[in-house]
Parts: sequence; C-alpha cells; structure tokens
Amino acid sequence: MNCSRCGTVLEENVNFCPNCGSPPQQQNFQQPYSPYNTIPAPADYLIWSILSLVFCCLPLGIAALIFSIQCKTAFAAGRYEEAIKHSRTAFQCNLIALIAGILVLIIWFALAMIGVVAENSGNF
Ligand SMILES: [Zn+2]
Repeated sequence: MNCSRCGTVLEENVNFCPNCGSPPQQQNFQQPYSPYNTIPAPADYLIWSILSLVFCCLPLGIAALIFSIQCKTAFAAGRYEEAIKHSRTAFQCNLIALIAGILVLIIWFALAMIGVVAENSGNF
C-alpha cells in the first residue's frame, strides 16, 4: 500500500510513513468511498409509470415513464440531484394520471347512469 498523504510505498504493519510521518490509514482501503453504497437510489416509480401508461392511455403515462427512466439513468451516472428531480416529476405525472384516470372512470359511470335513467324514463 501507499502513504495516503505523500504516496510513498509503505511496508506491511508500519505505524507511520518513513517519509512524512503520517500514520497509514488502512480503513480507507478497506471501505472505499462509493456513492452507490452510501446513497440510496431514489424511487423511480417505473412500475407505476407503466401501469399509468397501460391503464390510463394518457400522455401523462408516457411522460411519467420517460421521467422514471431519466431518474434511473441520472442516478446510474452519479447525478443524484437530477435523479431526485426526475423522481419527483415522475411521481407527480403518475399522481395526475391516476386522478385523471379515476375522474374519467367517474364521468364514464355518471354518463352510464344518466343513460340508464334516460332509457328507463323513456319507457314511461
Ligand atoms: Zn507519507
């Protein structure tokens, strides 16, 4: 291993660097810093986006899916802030798609009920 301060090659089990006198920091070699281990991946809502796309058939489903993929891509590239931003946008798109989907369902039921009532009143 090398000295963490000056880079001098150190022998095993030495307590300090013969060149600069700093203690060898072995823990740095045992636990290398990795953003993928320390930072949890933001939720990409990929499954929800696909469901929004399939069941709602709205442009929002496509938008949500794109933001989900961008979230994954940004995180894989180490752009954590960007990944969080895309994660939030994907969530918002999915939420709006879900509400819109429910509203469409309610309107569809309402129209069906009006149709049934109109049909029944037409019999009198
Ligand atoms: Zn040194």
